[in-house]
Amino acid sequence: MSITGKTTVCGILGYPVAHSVSPRMQNAAFAALGLDWVYIPWAVRPGAFPRALEALRGIENFGGANVTIPHKEAALEAVDEISPEARSIGAVNTIVRREGILVGHNTDGEGFLTSLREEVGEDPRGKRVGLLGAGGGAKAVAYALAEAKVAEVTVFGRSQERARSLVSHLRKLYRNIELLALGLQDLHAGILGQLDILINATPVGMKPSDPPLFDYGMLREDLLVCDLIYRPAETPLLASARLRGCRLLNGCGMLLYQGARAFELWTGQKAPVPIMRQALAEGENGA
Ligand code: NAP
Repeated sequence: MSITGKTTVCGILGYPVAHSVSPRMQNAAFAALGLDWVYIPWAVRPGAFPRALEALRGIENFGGANVTIPHKEAALEAVDEISPEARSIGAVNTIVRREGILVGHNTDGEGFLTSLREEVGEDPRGKRVGLLGAGGGAKAVAYALAEAKVAEVTVFGRSQERARSLVSHLRKLYRNIELLALGLQDLHAGILGQLDILINATPVGMKPSDPPLFDYGMLREDLLVCDLIYRPAETPLLASARLRGCRLLNGCGMLLYQGARAFELWTGQKAPVPIMRQALAEGENGA
């Protein structure tokens, strides 16, 4: 990578960001297309996001940014314009700079949907979905699934209040979808038996010591089991689902396609998805 006087600078704003694989993925994409662009990590402490973005706003060669934990909601307040999907989701994960105007987008939901279609050939239209968790990732996925015309979404929350709030928000936007908020403790074999797709949108499974979210012995072989977690690539939920014969999808595809969409929003060029996928895989292997 060579940086010139004309290099356009992009990056990721989050805290912590040291673990982020996005710089590896986006820089590989810029290089593959011969773009004089660079993507760097910006470690922005909680509370410092508005100041950090204000500083970037004044930089002429700032091309755009990704936003990650804990700033996705703060970004919604700090940008000048908000795309319809970011407004519906209530969070921004991508900022685009157009003639000095900062526009907030959210590519997480589309990333999940593309991964569902491309990695496991699943069309969610008409399907019954169980969503574990009601945080930022769950919101983006629920919105994308609703846009893709699923028949039913049941949100299982640790805090039922957060699950209810997500469901009541979705009800206002989508009248033709069955929406239900339950507690995680309500997840039993009978309910599981009525689902086509089960999605983990909690961080449970990132650490080997995490206790399971429910009794994974209840999983049926005709379920598609998805986990938004990408590290480890196979969480205990997915490992159990594999043993039961379920179809599986981990969070690597969502990470890839949300990044590919962000790349396209910044550069206006088609993202080199195979190159980005390879960069992610090399990152996983510590290469
Ligand atoms: P978040 O906004 O903090 O939400 C986390 C959700 O998980 C909340 O509903 C929370 O419950 C629930 N939760 C947390 N710990 C739990 C536990 N021990 N038991 C039961 N529920 C628990 O986080 P997020 O941004 O949605 O991220 C969630 C996961 O998705 C993370 O692992 C993240 O890496 C992954 N993710 C992946 C991608 C991708 O590109 N692959 C994109 C986004 C997110 P409460 O409501 O009770 O707090």
